[in-house]
Amino acid sequence: MPCYFREGWVVPSLNNTAVFFVGGSGADALAKLNSSQLAANLQSFLGNFVSPLPNITNIFISNWTNDANVLGGYSYASVGTRTSTFNALRSVLNVGAKNIWFIGEATHPYDYSYAYGAYETGVDAATAALKI
Ligand SMILES: Cc1cc2nc3c(=O)[nH]c(=O)nc-3n(C[C@H](O)[C@H](O)[C@H](O)COP(=O)(O)OP(=O)(O)OC[C@H]3O[C@@H](n4cnc5c(N)ncnc54)[C@H](O)[C@@H]3O)c2cc1C
Repeated sequence: MPCYFREGWVVPSLNNTAVFFVGGSGADALAKLNSSQLAANLQSFLGNFVSPLPNITNIFISNWTNDANVLGGYSYASVGTRTSTFNALRSVLNVGAKNIWFIGEATHPYDYSYAYGAYETGVDAATAALKI
C-alpha cells in the first residue's frame, strides 16, 4: 500500500495528538479508504520514524475537497511553476465593455496557498476596478 502521509506534527497542547496534512492525488486516494485502512496506512508511515509503533486510538478526518461549503483546500505550485502562470491566472478578462477580474489565493504570484494572498489579490482587483 503506498504511503500518503507527507507532513505532520504533534500538537503539544493536546496530549498524544498528531496532525497530518495530505494533498493532491494522495488526498484523493486517502479519501477512498475506510478508517481501519487509514490507520494501517498511518502506522506504516509512522514506522519510518518510531519503534514500537504507537497504538492509534482515534482518527478524525477533514475532507476539504468534498465539503460542500469549502470545495477545496488551497493551491500548491508544482515544480517548474513560474510567476507568469499566476499573472496569467489573474489577468483581467475584457468582455465587450465589461471586465472580469479573477482573484483568490491561487492567483497570487508568491503568497498563493494563504489567506493574506487571497486578500491582497482582492484589494488589487478592487483598486484596479475603481480606476476605470
Ligand atoms: C486546513 C487548512 C488550513 C489552512 N491554514 C491556513 C493558515 O494557517 N494561514 C493562511 O493564511 N491560510 C491558511 N489556509 C488557506 C486559506 O484558507 C486559503 O488560502 C484561503 O481561504 C483562500 O481564499 P480564497 O478566497 O482564494 O478561496 P476560498 O476561501 O477557498 O473561497 C472559494 C469559495 O468559492 C466557493 N466555490 C468553489 N467552487 C465554486 C463553484 N463552482 N460555484 C460557486 N462557489 C464555488 C467555495 O465554496 C468557497 O467558498 C488553510 C486552508 C486549509 C484548508
